[in-house]
Amino acid sequence: MTKLRGIAASDGIATAKAYMLVQPDLSFSKSTISDSEKEINRLHNALQASTSDLETIRKIAAESLGEEEAQVFDAHMMILADPEFTGAIEGKINDDKVNAEQALKEVADLFVATFEAMTDNAYMQERAADIKDVTKRVLSHLLGVTLPNPALIDEEVIVIAHDLTPSDTAQLNGKFVKAFVTDIGGRTSHSAIMARSLEIPAIVGTENITTSVKAGEQVIVDGINGDVIINPTDADIAEYDKKAQAFAEQKAEWEKLKNEKSVTKDGKTFTVAANIGTPKDLDGVIDNGAEAIGLYRTEFLYMDSSELPSEDDQFEAYKTVLEGMAGKPVVVRTMDIGGDKKLPYLPLPEEMNPFLGYRAVRISLDRDDIFRTQLRALLRASNYGKLRIMFPMIATVAEFRQAKGILEEEKAKLLADGQTVSDDLQVGMMVEIPASAVLADQFAKEVDFFSIGTNDLIQYTMAADRMNERVSYLYQPYNPAILRLIKNVIDASHKEGKWTGMCGEAAGDSVMAPLLVGMGLDEFSMSATSVLRVRSLMKRLDTTQLTDLVETAINVNTSNEENQKLVEDFMQNL
Ligand code: PEP
Ligand code: MG
Repeated sequence: MTKLRGIAASDGIATAKAYMLVQPDLSFSKSTISDSEKEINRLHNALQASTSDLETIRKIAAESLGEEEAQVFDAHMMILADPEFTGAIEGKINDDKVNAEQALKEVADLFVATFEAMTDNAYMQERAADIKDVTKRVLSHLLGVTLPNPALIDEEVIVIAHDLTPSDTAQLNGKFVKAFVTDIGGRTSHSAIMARSLEIPAIVGTENITTSVKAGEQVIVDGINGDVIINPTDADIAEYDKKAQAFAEQKAEWEKLKNEKSVTKDGKTFTVAANIGTPKDLDGVIDNGAEAIGLYRTEFLYMDSSELPSEDDQFEAYKTVLEGMAGKPVVVRTMDIGGDKKLPYLPLPEEMNPFLGYRAVRISLDRDDIFRTQLRALLRASNYGKLRIMFPMIATVAEFRQAKGILEEEKAKLLADGQTVSDDLQVGMMVEIPASAVLADQFAKEVDFFSIGTNDLIQYTMAADRMNERVSYLYQPYNPAILRLIKNVIDASHKEGKWTGMCGEAAGDSVMAPLLVGMGLDEFSMSATSVLRVRSLMKRLDTTQLTDLVETAINVNTSNEENQKLVEDFMQNL
């Protein structure tokens, strides 16, 4: 038995065999060949084997993920069947007398470079990405190594990876993938957030899981504490079975609060809302009894698509969510691309610090063609529910005014076209940059509401990358520096008669909740699976006892741990 510790990223306990989602070594050397025919035969066998892989993957992907997601594999098969591509490789083998691996690489590099140079043609740029993918597959067959195919998983497994991008995570089939564990990443990296919406346990930032476990070994993942047990003993299995059962019983207890209000012992009411990434997450929101959607991360709509989503496609998605919530508020955040979220068809410049770079509203204000399409879709959808629009990563009042100005222009155009827009539409902003938290009093005069994004606010305030496990000790939600910023935002909004929500992961944190209730945060928005836990915790609180707790916490001497203990002791003595 070996035990590793990482960062607990998604609750729950799972036991299954390890599935290594690790890229094999595809390096090779160039060699001169004498028998071209034999080499071309090798190439044909590799092409055929690749096509047959893709046929299987496509079939399974269509069943488990849907027809649309499966279509990417059609594009891959078309490349393998394209005589221009395969003919060029054969030509190189014949003319240059090089091995098939080298001929494939040279031809693929040429195609990729040509397509990538078409910077104003998103479709061709995406074909470049397809060629890279297909080439990897053919190369793996030439070299006789196996590529991992997560779409082919058809038995219960625990996925082990160095890192998972949000799009890798989106492809995991929750029916078979019981949990995942990665070497790198933090609790607020987007793959961790998605694990919580898929409701599978996850541990990130173990540093060395990929070198500590082998394919097929049995693994227990304890997503509550962040422990991974490799090759457990019978005693370990029995212990974790018990823990899993206790967790299930606790969940059943929380279930009873599903249709209740979020109210404290002394009768103060709060809103407990859920965060979503796609309309598919609506079921989880409703199953967990959330009272609103406090954050719809619309960038996943852009990431799930092979080109910029059209106004109508976006309108349909927003309408589905608003109708699905049947009049309950829905806070939609405009596109937040950049940082760890990339679009294959909208290449962003390589940057030294992507989280400090060209991101979110900065892209929207720069590419207002993309922004306007999204705003029009939102304004049209506003007729179907209670829509609140917010802009991410606002640093200055000027940015907010500019974004809101564009929204007003699009609204005026729609009205002039005879379309309708809801009267009950609020426009707010995320507070996730320290500058806007400090100057919340100025912003509060301009906005209808704030939503505090602690995932970014903490990383920027503490200068600790949210994705980097080495500095995760500095990721301190209870640090008085963070608590004072949060309190400043809430107080500033209330002074202007506005409301403040929180949609960062801290909103669902059990230690944070008593402090936030004490500060009068209006809306708590979190992974849907945390809603009932937080509602149950609120029932135990008496707000009249929380003023002193908050006062002590914002004045402790910079210590995150001291505040954690302060709140834990407080809760224990209730
Ligand atoms: C945040 O920063 O807290 C937030 C909710 O936004 P995201 O995690 O998508 O950056
Ligand atoms: Mg953010």
